[in-house]
This record gives sequence, structure tokens and C-alpha cells, in this order.
Amino acid sequence: MSPPRSADRLPADFLAQLAERLPAERYTQDPAELLEYGRDWTRVYAPAPSLLVRPRTTAEVAQLLSLCSAHRVAVVPSGGRTGLAGGAMATAGEVVLSLARLDRLGPVDELGLTVRVQAGAVLAEVHRHCAEHGLTWPVDLGAKGSCQVGGNIATNAGGVKVIRYGLTRQWVLGLQVVTAAGEVLELNGALEKNNTGCDLRQLFIGSEGTLGVITEATLKLVRLPAQLHVLLLALPDLQAVLALFARLRRGPLPIMAFELFTAACLDRVLAHRGLRPPLAAPASSRPPGVTGTTGTCYVLCELERPTGMPVEVLHDLFGELLIADGDGGHGLALDGVLAQSAREAAELWALREGISETLARTGMPHKNDVALPIAALAPFCAELEQFFAARYPGWELFIFGHIGDGNLHINVMKPAALSEAEFRARTRTVDNELFALVKAHHGSISAEHGIGLLKRDYLHYSRSPAELLLLQALKRTLDPHNILNPGKVIEL
Ligand code: FAD
Repeated sequence: MSPPRSADRLPADFLAQLAERLPAERYTQDPAELLEYGRDWTRVYAPAPSLLVRPRTTAEVAQLLSLCSAHRVAVVPSGGRTGLAGGAMATAGEVVLSLARLDRLGPVDELGLTVRVQAGAVLAEVHRHCAEHGLTWPVDLGAKGSCQVGGNIATNAGGVKVIRYGLTRQWVLGLQVVTAAGEVLELNGALEKNNTGCDLRQLFIGSEGTLGVITEATLKLVRLPAQLHVLLLALPDLQAVLALFARLRRGPLPIMAFELFTAACLDRVLAHRGLRPPLAAPASSRPPGVTGTTGTCYVLCELERPTGMPVEVLHDLFGELLIADGDGGHGLALDGVLAQSAREAAELWALREGISETLARTGMPHKNDVALPIAALAPFCAELEQFFAARYPGWELFIFGHIGDGNLHINVMKPAALSEAEFRARTRTVDNELFALVKAHHGSISAEHGIGLLKRDYLHYSRSPAELLLLQALKRTLDPHNILNPGKVIEL
């Protein structure tokens, strides 16, 4: 298939016809805006879009896509640009289609527990809107102040509440999608049940803007949880973390979040933010230099206390978890703290949510986001750490993530001695070795960030040749001229 024509080589009649279809204030070629809208959170590629279009209606999105299809012009759908896989990067003169102005929030349906919103609505705004009715859309991630519902759906976002509620795809009832040809599809409406053949809605969820542009969605809501309690625990190693997880799962309080970070992560956040350690240092279990999963690990855990359950149940549980509890304790945790107020809970959460930002501000991290079966986590991490120690001595490793979902964020920092170019080149070799290990443990090379540009060339570690052929066939069917986010996820 010939590559789609990029917008910097647009025929004059493309821009002339665009001017006939959309008001002039809907698009710009201002260099500063092109730079801003041509990139996401990855800092690996140089943005180089030719045109930024910000439609206000679905009809305008359809007009734009039918024009781009007719002229074979590549389009990059763009949400809050918080993606970590390069999915919203425009690197080759594409048209950036920003959904930011389609941000209307419809009325909350308290009977059906749904709300219809436009794709450009910011996640935190959706939460605020629904909270007024005691409800929430239970998709929750650190980027909620900027990411958009359309981006969440296009990436099938995960986040900190997956352990309780599952992934984004479980919370989308209906979708409005504009196809590459500019046709508007209404998929599933607000139906909970609709057994009429293949569920086309699910095709677009997680397709990272390569199959269609999401313009509206009917979201499924839940009641806001009752009382939430946040605990931070220090444990001797990853094995103990997993034992704690098993124990809490059997307990009376539903787990809302179960997050892991190693001592290396915590030390870095504390140093960067000038904070005091939240717990007494459990030095005995932390030999010098051991900052991986074989040394002290921290768990940030959020539990829901159902209405009517006395707080003593929580206090008893917390006491039981500590090895050195007043009664002599047989727990698993070396130390722990239970937040006593919303402010303390937010401070504990900030330690976990500050890791990505701290790493980005204190060096150059190379990021991976892998998933493993829970049972494979400990052997995988042990092999991973041995691998880095043997093959890449001196490379700092930071492991954290949504451990209750088997999701590890593996970050390695650029050693000072390597140039940026050398580091990038070497991380390609590292990734091949890392993903071979992930595959050997029956895991996935992308747990929640998606594939985008960043992981495209490694997709074969997680998808069989037959699956890759099917994915290509789907792309050709839905986007025959390859104008939608070409080169992302899969190459034709
Ligand atoms: P963008 O980055 O703008 O786009 C992402 C992809 O979706 C691109 O391929 C784009 O082309 C496509 N797209 C965007 N909008 C549309 C649309 N309307 N129609 C079709 N395609 C579209 N992710 C997680 O899963 N879990 C986390 O816990 C998490 N934590 C994060 C924390 C931080 C601090 C940051 C910066 C990111 C985090 N992310 C996380 C990644 C990111 O926030 C999510 O992937 C998010 O869902 C992306 O939404 P966005 O609106 O920013 O999308």
C-alpha cells in the first residue's frame, strides 16, 4: 500500500476545500501550536505536523475525515496528549485532529446509571460531574487532570482502580465513531444487553486512533465507594507483597488499589521532593545496595469499608498485618501507616503517583509497562534483576506498578556515562531481551499504555503471526487508504 500523503505536501485544493467545509478559526498552522499538539508525553520523537484542526461538532469531524480520505491525507487523532506510547505523535506532516473542543457533558441518568459525554471531556471533569449525583465513572489514573475520555477509550486505559473495576472497556456502553471515510457510526447506544452479532464497539476500544475517531460515548457509572482507607506498608520483599495481597483478598474489605514500589523509587521521590520518610527505615531487611524486589518493597493499598462496617474491623486487620504489632504480631509487614485524614491519604498517594514525574525530572528514564500472570511476578522480577545486574551493571532500575493486576512499570535510567543517542540505541537491545523474558513468562509487552509508535516493532512478542495478519486485515477494511494514525500499532 502506498504511504498516505502527508499534509506538508498537501495539494492546494485540499486547503481550499477545507476552507469551504470548516470555519477558518477551526484550524491553524501556527508553529508553536503545531509543536504542542503534535506530541504526547513520550519524549522520544520530534513532532512535525502540518496542520492542527479543532472541530466543534461530530459533523465537522466527519467533514474533515471524508476530505482527508479523498486526498489521502494522514490524520492523528489527539486527546489530552498524556499517552506514553507515542500514539498521538505526529512526526511526518500529518493533520492533528484535536477533540478538545468536543467536551460537552450530558445529563447524568440516575436510573440507568449512565452519562453521555463528548470525547474531548477531561476525565477529572467527568468525575466531578458524576460525583454531584453520588456516582462515578470508575476509570482513574494519574493523568486525569489532562487526559480525555476519548483518549481513555482509544487506549483502553487501566489505572489504579482496575483491581476493583476492570479496564475502561468494561465501562463503555455506547460509542459514536467517525470512520476514515467520514461516516458516523452509533454503536450500541445505552444498552446493557444487545446480542446482535459481533460487538463493533469493542473493536474501537483500544484501537489507538487507527480504526476510527471516537466523538461521543455513553459511559456506565457506579455509586461512589463508601469510606476509603489508605495504608502504606513496608514489606521484606516481593514474595511478602504477594502474600499480603492474597491475605487482603480473603479479607472483609474490598481492595480498591494495590500498588507496589521498590525502595529505589521511594528514596528517589523523597529526595526529589525533600520529604521525610513516611515509615521508620526497616534497615534490618534492607542490606546496603538492595533496592529491587528482593529488598524492602512498599505497598500503597486503598481499602473500602462498606457502610455499616465498624472501623474496628479495619484497625484489627491493620494490626494483624504488622510483624511487630503490640501482641507480638505474626504479620507480613515490617512497618506501616494508616492514613488518619484525607490529607494524610493524599500525601501517601502522592508518594506513589509522584514516581513517574520524579524519574522524568531527575534523569532520563526508559519506560516499559508489562503484564505478567500474578503467579509469575516473583520469578520474573528475580530473573529481570539478575539480567540487569549481569548485563547492564550500573544501570539503575526502578520497579513500580499496579501489582494487584500483574502490571509492572519497569524504568531504567540513562547512566551518566552514556550519551542520549547511545542510551536510546542500547535500550532497543534491552527491550528485545526484556520482551523475550516477558514472553517466556506468558506476559504482555504492554499492560495498559498501548503500542503506539513506541512498542510497534515489538508487537510480535505478544501477538502471533496469525493475529498480526488479522489485525492488518481489520485495518485495511476499516481504513482502506491508511489515513488514520498510519504507522501506529501495526504497519501495513
Ligand atoms: P492521547 O495521549 O491524546 O492519545 C492516546 C491515543 O489515543 C493516541 O493513539 C491517539 O491517536 C488516540 N486518541 C485520542 N483521542 C482519540 C479519539 N477521540 N478517537 C480516537 N483515537 C483517539 N495510562 C493508563 O492506562 N494507566 C495509568 O495509570 C496511567 N497513568 C498515567 C500517569 C501519568 C502521569 C501520565 C502522563 C500518563 C498516564 N497514563 C496511564 C497514560 C495516559 O494517560 C493514558 O493512556 C490516557 O488514556 C491517554 O488519554 P489522552 O486523552 O491523553 O490520549
